Amino acid sequence: VAKERGKNNYHFYDSALDQITSRKMELENGLRRALELDELRIFYQPKVQMDTGDILGVEALLRWEHPILGLISPAEFIPIAEETGLIIPIGKWVLRNAIEQSIYWENTGIGTIPVAVNISVRQIKDEDFVVDVKEILEATSFVPSCLELEITESIMQDFNRSTHVLKQLKQLGLNISMDDFGTGYSSLNNLRHLPINSIKIDKSFVDDIINFNGSIVRAIIDMAENMDFNIIAEGVETKEQVKFLLDNSCFTGQGYYFSKPLPAGDLEKYIIQCSSITAG
Ligand code: C2E
Ligand code: MG
Ligand code: MG
Ligand code: MG
Repeated sequence: VAKERGKNNYHFYDSALDQITSRKMELENGLRRALELDELRIFYQPKVQMDTGDILGVEALLRWEHPILGLISPAEFIPIAEETGLIIPIGKWVLRNAIEQSIYWENTGIGTIPVAVNISVRQIKDEDFVVDVKEILEATSFVPSCLELEITESIMQDFNRSTHVLKQLKQLGLNISMDDFGTGYSSLNNLRHLPINSIKIDKSFVDDIINFNGSIVRAIIDMAENMDFNIIAEGVETKEQVKFLLDNSCFTGQGYYFSKPLPAGDLEKYIIQCSSITAG
């Protein structure tokens, strides 16, 4: 009996592990075909000038509409895309489609809406990346200054090479921002020499404004001012946070307080609604 129970226990653990592994394998296999099966969607979240309510641009955020498992978060599948190298074709697809969406908004009179696209360190390391971006800009005739690439502090691992790549990207005329700022390991000296335009304060610090105090947010804003970077707060959810940020000279924000990431059509409605409020 003991032997049998042992065997069952073994099977129990085995199948729990199996479930995790098999979901991951299913996602990995599915992701390989997600592009050709047209299962990827881009949602857009506005970046807002908080003192006026103007929309300064949008961030493109990827979603995967899995035929069986439903909507899958990028927090789950982007790491798999990075491990497998699929982030290279997927990243190109996001860049191309986000740019085409912005061009559509321009052409249909919705407005000039600059677009920000998240870039994995894996893409920065890819030797074709700069040429790929250049080709997409040329093929679409997109105004480069309306494109922003969001990178993270993980690029600091390979500071010299990353700096070289970022310089080449900036020469194309686009903007670069440091996402999730404060969660990584940037030395301030390296940060100062990085060719970037702006810093996005990570949501965890913006949360502190309500739960704890805003001293870290204030320190990041001061630092950004000293280094001549623009600053934007991520994950703004309350009126109190907006007030604190404005009082401390951070005028740009992004978060559920203004809008969740939305499908393109819903974002259009949001923009039209906002501009009618501003106009009237
Ligand atoms: P991120 O670039 O830092 O994007 C911000 C995340 O915070 C998004 O999650 C957004 O939906 C969420 N968010 C925004 N405002 C609020 C708020 O007020 N409250 C809360 N609770 N959350 C808020 P999402 O869309 O799940 O994306 C997660 C991460 O996945 C992104 O973080 C980014 O690192 C990555 N990601 C998304 N799309 C792409 C992509 O196309 N390429 C790459 N390489 N990574 C992507
Ligand atoms: Mg981002
Ligand atoms: Mg972020
Ligand atoms: Mg993030």
